[in-house]
Amino acid sequence: MKIRTGFGYDVHQLQEGLPFWLGGILVPHTHGGLGHSDADVLIHVICDALLGAANLRDIGFHFPDTDPQYKGVDSKRLLAEVARLLREQGYTIGNIDSTICLEAPKVNPHIPEMQRVLAEVLGIEPDDISIKATTTEKLGFVGRREGVAAYASVLIVKQ
Ligand SMILES: [Zn+2]
Repeated sequence: MKIRTGFGYDVHQLQEGLPFWLGGILVPHTHGGLGHSDADVLIHVICDALLGAANLRDIGFHFPDTDPQYKGVDSKRLLAEVARLLREQGYTIGNIDSTICLEAPKVNPHIPEMQRVLAEVLGIEPDDISIKATTTEKLGFVGRREGVAAYASVLIVKQ
């Protein structure tokens, strides 16, 4: 049995009036993530951690932001494709742990729904996806509400 870990990090600017996609759901807020895709920072770090664990490069390699087919794309589509790439290599997902760094709004009430949605896309149990949230105590770009950052680590297994 082969066990591997992976890690992901990503940042998106927050801009007024944009939809705020986070963890595969639309979070009600005055600002939303700016990006070529739907700017779902949590899905992006999970994609990168999974790709990294399987040594399959990164999200920008598979879904370049210069490619018009990914303009405004639902990041759940990218996550489904990443899961397919891992299955193709014989890997199953053990667990995912993640942290979202965001000053506002409060993420905690939305976490169960994010877990449910992401688990469905990945074909795993919601219990295998941990999502945590923190502020940065008003420090830095997150603290100034200029952006959102996220981190994820994953474990994958090949029998
Ligand atoms: Zn991103």
